[in-house]
Amino acid sequence: MEKAQTYRCDGCGSEYRVVGKSQPKVVCRNCDREATLCGAAAAQRAYHIGYTRYREARRQLSDALATVEDGEMALARGGFDSAASDFEASVDQFTTALREADDEALGEFAERGRKKATCLWQAAEWLSGMTYAREQGETAQASTYRKDAENRLQAAREYGTVSSPEELRQATGLEVQSEA
Ligand SMILES: [Zn+2]
Repeated sequence: MEKAQTYRCDGCGSEYRVVGKSQPKVVCRNCDREATLCGAAAAQRAYHIGYTRYREARRQLSDALATVEDGEMALARGGFDSAASDFEASVDQFTTALREADDEALGEFAERGRKKATCLWQAAEWLSGMTYAREQGETAQASTYRKDAENRLQAAREYGTVSSPEELRQATGLEVQSEA
């Protein structure tokens, strides 16, 4: 089935309906600016990308925590910094999904993803600070950072699990957009 998708001009806000599976470049008739995908299709795509970045960030965070146990502070810091930047990217995508969602379930999933990824992003930054303090021999500072990070990790746990795009599809009955 051919589905109509909505594109919105970033300049004047005019909306264009495009039918078909491809994602064409849509140029606004009024102001010649490029229109970007919006609405449900944009929300689902953003959720999908956000979830992928989130999973990657989670993996980097656990690897870096294991590296701390091994006493490799500089290496761990690199891992925490990468995790923080992937969490940040996932927060951006979940925020887009939340803004464009016209479905309650999608909105709730995106909101949970955004909140949880934000907590983990903060935790990764505190942990990065901790590795630096440890390297500098500032033990008291390091344990303060560690405690701050643990509080954020605890808060993240309370948000539960971030649903996969497949779970989202089952909850909403919406068709998942193929990866662009
Ligand atoms: Zn326009």
